[in-house]
Amino acid sequence: MFESHERVRLRRPDGLYIGGQWREASAAADLVSPSDEAVHSRVAAATAADVDRAVAAARQAFDEGPWPRMSAAERAGYMRKFAAGLRARADAFAAAWSLQTGIPITIAAHGLADPGRMYDYYADLIERENLVTVHRRDNGGHAIVAREPVGVVAAVTPWNHPSHLMALKAAPAMAMGCAIVGKPAPESPLDMFLYAEVAEDIGLPPGVFNMVPCGREASDHLVRHPGIDKVSFTGSAATGAHIASVCASRMARSSMELGGKSAAIVLDDMPVETVVATLVDGGGVRMCGQGCAFLTRVLVSRKRRDELADAYAAKMREVVIGHAFEPSVQMGPVAMRRQLDKIMGYIEQGKAQGARIVTGGGRPDHLVGVPEGKGFFVEPTLFVDVTNEMAIAREEVFGPVISMIAWDDEAEAIRLANDSPYGLNGAVYTQDADKAWAIARRIRSGNFSQNGLEHDSMFPFGGYKLSGTGREGGPWGLDAYTEIKTIYMPHPPAAVA
Ligand code: NAD
Repeated sequence: MFESHERVRLRRPDGLYIGGQWREASAAADLVSPSDEAVHSRVAAATAADVDRAVAAARQAFDEGPWPRMSAAERAGYMRKFAAGLRARADAFAAAWSLQTGIPITIAAHGLADPGRMYDYYADLIERENLVTVHRRDNGGHAIVAREPVGVVAAVTPWNHPSHLMALKAAPAMAMGCAIVGKPAPESPLDMFLYAEVAEDIGLPPGVFNMVPCGREASDHLVRHPGIDKVSFTGSAATGAHIASVCASRMARSSMELGGKSAAIVLDDMPVETVVATLVDGGGVRMCGQGCAFLTRVLVSRKRRDELADAYAAKMREVVIGHAFEPSVQMGPVAMRRQLDKIMGYIEQGKAQGARIVTGGGRPDHLVGVPEGKGFFVEPTLFVDVTNEMAIAREEVFGPVISMIAWDDEAEAIRLANDSPYGLNGAVYTQDADKAWAIARRIRSGNFSQNGLEHDSMFPFGGYKLSGTGREGGPWGLDAYTEIKTIYMPHPPAAVA
């Protein structure tokens, strides 16, 4: 029996949306609430045969359908309707995020106040963008350079921020004229069912958006599928490296938004109270560390280490922890048992390798609204006496675990920040803008902020090194869904578009 949660009422929990139609699922998935371990929904899951159907439908839409050949203004019209349909379901998207991943409902409601934003943004952008430019050549002829859609896109997302991460892919891909096969993580597929309802309601041309919620096996089938022109992936570095090599073997395009182990360098001119006011949130504690860009390594001068550690730990102890749907809760559980086990494993490894816990390290004593002994909870945890060689300093824990590392001079701080396999984000805390700028240019990461963790989807986001390839967000986000064609003609045609 398929069913959805009362806060995320799905029209067709039993269906996969493929080629503009709901198709009865051949498999099912039970979704477990991380707050209380109850099964909250039973929804359709896709098999490899469903993946084949979805790719065929997307191919048909791209190769034969109207979508890529419409004017930008027509596509933008559909996208604005799509945005409005998503916005009308804002409460359901927030509840779905909270229910599936343990993000407190207040954070989810704020973060997803407008789930249609990226679609409106790319609708406006594509109407303004000049996709075709005409150039006069030295020989008197013309070269016309056209930016064209990359084709059928497999959009593969992780569990931690499902609808926003899909929007960062689907919105620019749709704007360029691509057809999409959306593949959410098996733990958080609900958002794709809501997307499908909107696609159906607005009469999006069949096959432009298809969804195949599935696990690793069927997903692997998707990224290997010869009908896929491009894989846009967000997830772990290990899976990303595997998919990138699969794509490279047949020259399919790929872009990768992967993990991070980002450092915040705290310089001595910043008062400790000012630092912790934003650094604890920047460390992702309230989202239980379940984000890629969080500042999980804190690099501080040896002489101020204890002062900062005490202030940081005090802030961590204030956090109200409990059921993700409780309005007073500031930090929920981690999304799944596997994740909890992994985090506890890192905490044990940190202790065994000689790091010292200042606060946390276990299950919280007091939990708001949680049945006794239930839920995947871990205390906000601060380690000091960490060296950059330890596993807790090098690997992505993806939990509320912070490693504080001491430096003796600023050159060492920069070296420590860069001594990481990842390069997603970074920060410096200082009042000196010139120094902040100089350090920003020395750090090998795709994003960097002064005095906090800033992020804005109107600007490019992505990683250096193991954190990935390509960028999402803003006008740069269109590049991932673009092929460039050069057409030579003696004279340009009357109208180019
Ligand atoms: P994951 O790599 O395990 O899974 C991500 C997606 O890939 C899921 O949909 C999964 O089903 C699918 N997948 C797994 N194996 C596959 C295979 N062999 N072929 C095709 N698809 C496959 O990651 P996760 O645990 O879901 O997510 C957490 C990771 O995501 C963290 O590393 C985090 O840093 C990263 N992340 C990065 C960003 C970013 O923008 N850089 C944003 C959010 C999360």
